[in-house]
Amino acid sequence: MTSFLLRNARLADLDGSGTPDGPVDVRVTDGVVAEVAPGLAAEGVPEVDAEGRWLMPGLWDQHVHLTQWSLSSARLDLAGVRSADQAIAAVRERLEARPDQSIVGWGHRPTDWPVDPVVSMLDELESDQPIVLIAGDGHHAWLNSVALMTLAIPLREGMVAEGEWFAAYPRLMAVLGDDGTGPEALLLTQQEAATLGVVGITDLEFSVGPDEWSTRWEAGGGLLRVRAATYADGLDSVIERGLRTGDVLPGCDDRARMGPLKIISDGSLNTRTAWCCEPYSGPSPLGFPHGQPNQTPEELRDLLRRATEHGLDVAVHAIGDRAVGEALDAIADTGARGSIEHAQLVHREDVRRMADLGVVASVQPAHLIDDRDVSDRLWPGRGERSFAFRWMLDEGVRLAMGSDAPVARLDPWLAVMAAVHRTIDGREPWYADQAITLREALAASTDGWGTVAAGHPGDLALLDADPLGDWSQRREPPVVAATWVDGRLVHG
Ligand SMILES: [Zn+2]
Repeated sequence: MTSFLLRNARLADLDGSGTPDGPVDVRVTDGVVAEVAPGLAAEGVPEVDAEGRWLMPGLWDQHVHLTQWSLSSARLDLAGVRSADQAIAAVRERLEARPDQSIVGWGHRPTDWPVDPVVSMLDELESDQPIVLIAGDGHHAWLNSVALMTLAIPLREGMVAEGEWFAAYPRLMAVLGDDGTGPEALLLTQQEAATLGVVGITDLEFSVGPDEWSTRWEAGGGLLRVRAATYADGLDSVIERGLRTGDVLPGCDDRARMGPLKIISDGSLNTRTAWCCEPYSGPSPLGFPHGQPNQTPEELRDLLRRATEHGLDVAVHAIGDRAVGEALDAIADTGARGSIEHAQLVHREDVRRMADLGVVASVQPAHLIDDRDVSDRLWPGRGERSFAFRWMLDEGVRLAMGSDAPVARLDPWLAVMAAVHRTIDGREPWYADQAITLREALAASTDGWGTVAAGHPGDLALLDADPLGDWSQRREPPVVAATWVDGRLVHG
């Protein structure tokens, strides 16, 4: 169903320019918003009653490593579990969410648990799916009877350990199938994102290029809009086939398109490899007190030039202030178009240059929650120009928010909260001067689309509460009742 009429929706005022007082009807025709007005006629297309819920453009995550995210979210994380009861509760929750999927859990350490885990505890969940919980040291596993039988291991009440377990482990993926990276698991990962109102991602997965996405799409693994990046090692093949940024990928429909050339120009804060103007504080175990670039200026310009000549945008990873400055120099010299990824530490002059050059700041606000302490330690006195979203908007830079999943959760609402409050965990805000408003943060999460209007793509999220309401104070994002991509219902 790519054409439908949505009745009684309230428009979320993302533009801040005012919206109609009452609910309106929204006509989507062939995947595009065709009309927005009260009292539209159905004209033979299906009708959906929004019952006064709020409608906004669907959310985008502009920096995802989808395979890694899928892999880490497919395995049930039991590292924090402290008893058999807690493990059983986590398994039960997963079974409720994905009743038709086998479970591979990982990371529990039962040595000090008050009660030893046994097979019958898992059997009491009465699932017909294999459940395999691998201990944190990898030397033993706790299985239900279904899993024991599936893996041809004799039935028992205790653990499968050491030699017997090592022999069984290689059979695990063969027997259970998908390890979280096949089309089916990737589809599930996208479906979960859709429950949050996500309609599109930029996939910057390493060694997964446009070809891989074509294969997945043909295998039924497509759901959201995807922009598939290539790295330098795939650039020749992309150029050979004449794929330009924005082109529909071979074998896909128009949801899956060629993304940018991703270039990792420096390192990261935590490994002290992000390239900075001033040295890191403390020792420099790697021998680079300022961090370091990954390319010479000539190599960087060569990549930017080739991409630009062949119609490809660039996405230049630059975390340190020196790397950001150098990337902007190279972009200015080559006329490249695209984004700087992260831009975690910046000088105000460089923010101004980003605006002048039309470079998008592709930022991950949730990282500021994880990085604030390390940043205060390694980059003392530089916090006020870290995650400098206020400067960016004030200078007229286009902000595009993302998660860098699996580094942070693929969850735009989390990114929005972090950008608005500069904290999510009850600690005091970190450099609150760089906070942006809820409306600004949401607008940076919709791929540039504002208040829903005629001509917009049929990429929509219908919410139980106003996204511009007070949910972020309470840290309770609105429930997403329905999500459409290209006019197709993908959630709800
Ligand atoms: Zn990344």
